[in-house]
Amino acid sequence: MSAAKHFRRLLTLLVLFALGGCASQNAHYDPQKAHHRPDGFSNPDAPPRVIPWYEAVFRRWRGDFEPAAEPEGGYAAFARKWQGEVDHTLLAGRHDAPIITWLGHAGMLLQVGGKNILLDPHLGDYAGPVSWLSSRRRIPAPLSVAELPPIDLVLISHNHYDHLDHATVTALAKRFKTRWLVPLGLKRWFDAEGIAGAEELDWWDSRDEAPLKITLVPAQHWSKRTPFDANATLWGGFAVEWTGASPATQWRFLYTGDTGYSPVFKQIRRRLGPIDFLAVPVGAYLPRDFMRPQHVNPDEAVQIFRDLDAGLALGLHWGTFELTQEAFDQPPKDLALALTEHAVAPERFWMLKHGESRRIPPPTEK
Ligand code: ZN
Ligand code: ZN
Repeated sequence: MSAAKHFRRLLTLLVLFALGGCASQNAHYDPQKAHHRPDGFSNPDAPPRVIPWYEAVFRRWRGDFEPAAEPEGGYAAFARKWQGEVDHTLLAGRHDAPIITWLGHAGMLLQVGGKNILLDPHLGDYAGPVSWLSSRRRIPAPLSVAELPPIDLVLISHNHYDHLDHATVTALAKRFKTRWLVPLGLKRWFDAEGIAGAEELDWWDSRDEAPLKITLVPAQHWSKRTPFDANATLWGGFAVEWTGASPATQWRFLYTGDTGYSPVFKQIRRRLGPIDFLAVPVGAYLPRDFMRPQHVNPDEAVQIFRDLDAGLALGLHWGTFELTQEAFDQPPKDLALALTEHAVAPERFWMLKHGESRRIPPPTEK
């Protein structure tokens, strides 16, 4: 990057952060709830750290938010290995037994109980407010909104740009009369965009979407979309529980959203029971001193798998956007080591190619 470009970026960041500050009022504030604050939301175990603007500027300048090295063989070789074929015929069907498709980064299509559900879909060109102040996409989106099957429901875990993408959401709203389940405080964003059908949930709130039940579950993270809204809206993960033809046939899916490691996963296990299929981040974890409270590393992702007594898992939040310091091919290597250390069979923890679908073995009677 040229010195002038560097300088311009730094100047804009300085202005943004100098303007910043928490100026919001939490319209949902309930003093009985430990994660509510008069001005926003918090985590029970590790309150979100408010990063001083000069630290954010310094870290960006130092290169904390882009990979320190290229993947082995370069990005073209990485793309050859991790770009998959989209099975459009499979996607076009309505499916009872679960099928998952990785859409890159944290985005997934979950087809279960005859419903088509998107989670944090990001099919846009960059993750950020404007292209030059954003995380660069390194692997193309596997499909466009126009190529998606009809979508019934979109679940958005929080307002960070790599999870709530303006281009994708507005294209979805234009094409489908879908509904949106979002954490507390985020409906305002949809209202401002003129998008109908958004419904807010607090942690542990559920919605019946027969034959599914969807619950927003806690995660250890934070939120911010502008210089003025740090932690003004809630974050979380989603549990999707499907009751099959026989009421004894239950399948329980959990998408953690972005999260640091915390005792919350043992609580989720206690409240919901064991998880059949876990979708959990395995990327964006370096440098550790900065990322640990907000993003798990592969070792902690496997610990979450164990805390939830999960049957199978899919690793997410890696290999698509330049967000953090680890090389693009580091998460699968660290995951392989973590699985060995935790004595978890590697075939129980999937890493799919961008756009790849997989049928999940049918649930067993419980
Ligand atoms: Zn996030
Ligand atoms: Zn993220």
